[in-house]
Amino acid sequence: MPSHRDFFVLKTLHLPSRLGLSNNAQVLLLAYDEYRRGLIDSAELGRQVRLSPNKRQAITNTIAKCASYMRRKPEEVKNCIDILQTCTEILSIAGEVVGRPRYPVYNKKSSTCHCTKHEKPSWYNSHKFLNLGIASTSKAMNEEVMKFFYKNYRVDFSCTCEMLTMLDSNKELRENIRSVRVYWVGKVADTAFIKLAECPELRKLTLLISRSTTNKLNKREEELAEYFSSRRSTRVTEALGLDELLTIRGLTDVDVQHVSLKVSERRSDDEKASLTALLVSRLMQPRV
Ligand SMILES: [Zn+2]
Repeated sequence: MPSHRDFFVLKTLHLPSRLGLSNNAQVLLLAYDEYRRGLIDSAELGRQVRLSPNKRQAITNTIAKCASYMRRKPEEVKNCIDILQTCTEILSIAGEVVGRPRYPVYNKKSSTCHCTKHEKPSWYNSHKFLNLGIASTSKAMNEEVMKFFYKNYRVDFSCTCEMLTMLDSNKELRENIRSVRVYWVGKVADTAFIKLAECPELRKLTLLISRSTTNKLNKREEELAEYFSSRRSTRVTEALGLDELLTIRGLTDVDVQHVSLKVSERRSDDEKASLTALLVSRLMQPRV
């Protein structure tokens, strides 16, 4: 967790009044200070947020206000980021997001082009709240803020098509993205992983797999399929994108997870373990 200053300190800088933060927002930001100092626990903080739609709204509004203030006053970026971070952590504690916050990969240009072809992983909708909150303010987000997000938080993609579209259309994302979670499905998985391999700051990758991962096979397997009768089960290594995936280098963390809990959609744990071992052996090699 990146360290940031207490809201109390920011208050002494009169930041809340300059930002025009509501009472509800200030109450929550101070409650977060108390949580950090151990005076209240995460359950209590989460309860305060969940029980009040107004407070939840106050947090989203605060995010929007910070974003627009930063644009007008670049010298205040650091202070505003402290508040933004607190807001996202409060939402995270309140269970509005699963794990670390999903960060806005949507810019003005691409906000409508995320993929609808694939079934979204179960966590996808749980991110919606934060997505909408930030996406609606993304116009106001300046480059520096977006860079901060991409460097500090994991960016989730619901399929490789979405990842490719975003990496293609967003230079800040491409140049700063550090941690990615992506569901390995889609007809452009090969191109998408080539793009990902080109991201200079990429250090962490979580790959989500399911039976659908092999819906699209790589070229070699497609060719062989003309000669060999189809088998009942395919190996994950036959999926489109494996060769390209294996060209990624310089990672410090690689993980493979099942996307679904449903047994019928899951690949075997053996397969998951083998793929993890393969990826660790290749992707964690140094970049040349
Ligand atoms: Zn897709």
